[in-house]
Order: sequence, then C-alpha cells, then structure tokens
Amino acid sequence: MNSTRTLLSIKELEIDYPSRDGRGRVTAVKGLNLELAQGEIGCLLGSSGCGKSTVLRAICGFEPVKAGEILLRDKLASSTTVHLQTNQRKVGMVFQDFALFPHLNVLENIAFGLQHLPSNQRSSVAMEWLKRVSLSDKSDAYPHELSGGQQQRVALARAMAPEPDLILLDEPFSSLDIELRERLAGEMREILKANNITALLVTHDQFEAFAIADKVGVMTDGKVLQWDVPYELYHKPANRYIADFIGRGVFVKGIVLPGNKVKIELGELELDHDHSKDIGKEIDVLLRADDIQHDDHSAMQAEVVRKTFRGADFLYTLKLASGVEIFAFVPSHHDHAIGEKIGIHLVADHVVTFRD
Ligand code: ADP
Ligand code: MG
Repeated sequence: MNSTRTLLSIKELEIDYPSRDGRGRVTAVKGLNLELAQGEIGCLLGSSGCGKSTVLRAICGFEPVKAGEILLRDKLASSTTVHLQTNQRKVGMVFQDFALFPHLNVLENIAFGLQHLPSNQRSSVAMEWLKRVSLSDKSDAYPHELSGGQQQRVALARAMAPEPDLILLDEPFSSLDIELRERLAGEMREILKANNITALLVTHDQFEAFAIADKVGVMTDGKVLQWDVPYELYHKPANRYIADFIGRGVFVKGIVLPGNKVKIELGELELDHDHSKDIGKEIDVLLRADDIQHDDHSAMQAEVVRKTFRGADFLYTLKLASGVEIFAFVPSHHDHAIGEKIGIHLVADHVVTFRD
C-alpha cells in the first residue's frame, strides 16, 4: 500500500559541531530515531538548543552526520560514508524568517525554485501554487507589502512548487503574532494535507505541534524521547520528562490499593494497568489541570493561591489541605479571589503514574 510507505527514516543519528574553543567537538544530536510515512506531518517539539534545527539541516544535507543514517524513500541520503547533495534529495525547506527574496515579487519568489521548467511554464505553475495558498490576488506584491501570515503562505508555496518529497519547516510560526499562530497552524495543515505533502516541522510550542502534526517527537538533549500521536503523548507519556513537558500538571503521592486503584489526597483513582505487585507502595500520580473540576457544591475544598486569566478559563493554582499545590482550568465566569476556598473534584480518567 502506497499510503503507509515510509518516506523519511532516521536511525541512530549523531551530529556534532566544533566546540567554541576550537579544540574539540560538542554533540548536538545523538541516538535520534524517527520515521515519517508518505503524507504524514511530523513535528519535533523541544526547547531551544535541543537540536531541532540541526536535525532539519542534516535532512536537507547541510550538515554531515557523525553516526547513523538518514533515508529518504528508502534511499540512503546521509551516513558516515554517503552524503547526497541537497539538490539530489528532493527536500524543500521553509525557514524561520521565511527568507523571501525582497527584490522579487510574490510570483517571482515562487517561480525561483522552478528553474528546471521551461521559462514559459514557470509563471503558470507558480500561479497555480499561489492559488492553492489562496493568494492569487497578491502575485505582483512584494514581500514587505504582505502580512506575516501571507508571507508565510508564500514561503510555503515556494517550498511546495518544485514538488519535493518532503517539506521541512523550522519554527514556521515563531515570528508571527500569538493570536495568528493557532489559526495558521490549522491552515497550514489543511494546505499540506490537501496536497498530500509529507512535512516535518520543528517548534518549541506544544499547541502548534498538536494543532498541525499527526506525530510528535518530544526532544531533549539531541534525542527524541517519544515519537507518537499527540493523544498518546498527552495521555501515555513514556517518562516523567514528557509528562512534565506536555500539558500543565504536577505529581502527587499516591498509595496503590488492591483492585488496581490508587489513593491520593483527593480520593481514589482507577489505574489502567496491572499494579498488583505494588499494593501498599507509594507511586507518583500525574494530576493535570484538566483532571480537576471546580464544583461549588463539592465538600472537597482547596485554596486559590494563584490565578491566570486565559480568556475562556482561569488557570488556578490550588493548595490542598496537605499543602500540595495542584492546577485546575476553571471556566472564567468562576472568578474567585486569591485566598478563597473553592470546591473541587477529581475527573481524571487516564491516570499517569511513575514509581520513584
Ligand atoms: P534548536 O533548533 O533546537 O534550538 P540547534 O539545532 O540550533 O537547536 O542547536 C543544537 C545545539 O548545537 C546547540 O547547543 C547549539 O548551540 C549548537 N549548534 C548549533 N549550530 C551550531 C554551529 N553551527 N556550530 C556550533 N554549535 C552549533
Ligand atoms: Mg532552531
């Protein structure tokens, strides 16, 4: 089946750079693995400096690899002994700042990557791609005359026009207004999906990652810790780092009870896998802000110690009787004062736990 064909495969990738003092090397990426199927959108999610851009540059062929392999359509593109030139990889790149040519108009920017076509075809193909990103009326405009979101769509059309096998996007929303980002992430996903384009983007923003990607890899220290669909990352994080990094939550202590239950300060929760060996033992239970519901009628009380207005809801930090602080998203018409005690109850249905 074509639909499940692997387009990009990275195995045990390692990349290093000369150290600042020029005397040694520093590792930027190590032991990195991931696979992307034809038509899939993947995302590397991690904080600044974890190696995201390095991975993209290596896939493009801008960085030699120290160990491991990069395969494109099952063909070896990078290893310690093989290094395909960038123009042989059929990979397109959209840079963080879009990197449009300021002295070329929109149509010329898109046509720039179409040198392989006869000149009479270049502008009609470019025009076709402009249509696909809903900017037909801007063909004569210069980049500085466009909004950030429009420039981004031009950059995307320019990368898509040569019909690469894979498009790489380096923090494609980071120079745009926050309010725009989520909508544009959704739009970009629609454009990529409508054109059946395989893409790998990198970002430090989990909302962007979740809004656009089919598969997300949480990255730290040059490694992908878990490469999975967003739902699984959120509900079944493979380790504490991911549990902490994704979503807003805290770990609270719990005691495992018979019958696959765990008792925490707020009550009992069902565990979703067998913990019979741990009965009586202490485990850490992840409580996310969406696991706690505010309920004015609940007997269980917690004190508001901090609150952040987020529009539709507040993120409350609540102190339990034991002194433990937890988070809760509460609809913003429940505007309680700091120091006030409010009723809560537990609604967790996917319980994430870790031992020690
Ligand atoms: P990210 O994109 O996640 O912010 P990068 O891939 O840019 O991370 O960088 C990963 C690490 O490699 C960082 O520690 C960074 O300082 C280092 N690095 C990146 N590019 C170079 C370079 N050209 N020379 C030396 N070190 C580099
Ligand atoms: Mg970067």
